[in-house]
Amino acid sequence: MPLTEADLDLVWDTEKRAYAHPWSRGNFEDSLRSGYPAQMLVTPPLPGDNPLQLTASGHMLLGYWVAMAGVDEMHLLNIAVAPEHRRQGWGLVLLQALATHTLAQGHAWLWLEVRTGNTPAQCLYRRMGFLPVGLRKQYYPAGNGQRDEPEPAGPPAQAMNPPTVDPKTALHSLHLDERQRAMLAAMGTPVWWPEAITETAAEAKPAPPPPTPVRPAPAPEAAPVPTPAAAPAADPAIATLSWDALTEAIQSCQACGLCLGRQRAVPGMGNRQARWMIVGEAPGEQEDKQGLPFVGPAGQLLDAMLAAMGLTREADVYIANVIKCRPPHNRNPEPAEVAQCRPYLQRQIELVQPDLILALGRFAAQTLLAGVVPDVDKLPLGKLRGQVYRVDGRPVVVSYHPPYLLRSPADKGKTWADLCLAMDALGYNPLEKPTPAQPQT
Ligand code: SF4
Repeated sequence: MPLTEADLDLVWDTEKRAYAHPWSRGNFEDSLRSGYPAQMLVTPPLPGDNPLQLTASGHMLLGYWVAMAGVDEMHLLNIAVAPEHRRQGWGLVLLQALATHTLAQGHAWLWLEVRTGNTPAQCLYRRMGFLPVGLRKQYYPAGNGQRDEPEPAGPPAQAMNPPTVDPKTALHSLHLDERQRAMLAAMGTPVWWPEAITETAAEAKPAPPPPTPVRPAPAPEAAPVPTPAAAPAADPAIATLSWDALTEAIQSCQACGLCLGRQRAVPGMGNRQARWMIVGEAPGEQEDKQGLPFVGPAGQLLDAMLAAMGLTREADVYIANVIKCRPPHNRNPEPAEVAQCRPYLQRQIELVQPDLILALGRFAAQTLLAGVVPDVDKLPLGKLRGQVYRVDGRPVVVSYHPPYLLRSPADKGKTWADLCLAMDALGYNPLEKPTPAQPQT
């Protein structure tokens, strides 16, 4: 619904709660009195809602946007979701309303700016099909004595109708004309288009190889005592195991000493035909008790990460660990234990045939990137994240292990950037997500 002066008090109060550097009330007043398009996203009130937080029409305010119409384009000036309604998808709804309004007004472009530090918003815009065209340096105040943040300048919204956007087509159909380049120059924005976009396009990944036919084979007989010297990698039977036989083999495995302390081995869980595969490190206490990967607080965090991408662990991903049995006192796995257990993970990857693997944690990254990244075992995780690797022709993206994020929540923003990188690598748009396949455990 239109944002009018009748709701300015409420909107401005929301603005102050939404941003460290909010617009002033005068900014809103000037925009409305200049006739700029502005809309609010509202919902009917619920019992108990604070009447002081309702709009003049008696609705609960979810968010708003203010824009300015240009020659052949719309410029987004302000967009916000009320803090109490964040992470519920309202940002997408607001952007879609803005895109619809822009198209209805006959404008072909939509520009916006976003702080470089606002990773979630950048991810959202990229998923919507916006493209970065430049960096506006030292523009916005950072406050608190910090340096000003550089700003990427407005991605054009030729691709602003997300359900119909083909990102690859959009990459090649964007051409800034002289007027647009002059406008960016006047804003002090060095344009990096099209070089950066071309580079991104060059990263477009070929389709993964077709699934390997499953060849059923009997589970190997369990040895009566652990025999660490017997490397499963040398046992060709693992490379041909069916799902059921593989699960049984893991649950009865005694190939390394970790079998002695486990309550339950943790083979993995999820959709066996998933596009996404999550590889973690090793079971912890809760996983060892339940026989499932990523349960407890770390599992809840992983589920939240997946939910942010529109995914669920049951329907959309297959989750496995490098090590299937819990190391005592959650110590780091030994190289020999990783070597012993790795063939099971390798077989799981062959069976799932995921389109992308997300390696969570240093041991998962080092295991998957062995032979791909030189001296990978000497590199910390921070050096490994931030790029898309190719392992057996399949993209692999590295990020932090959820238990680590519980201890270091400041790195959640970096993790979200990694997830966005993975979505980009896969060309995945949650808005175009197909109906999930039947979950299997
Ligand atoms: S950790 Fe792996 S190799 Fe060692 S006993 Fe468990 S399943 Fe077997």
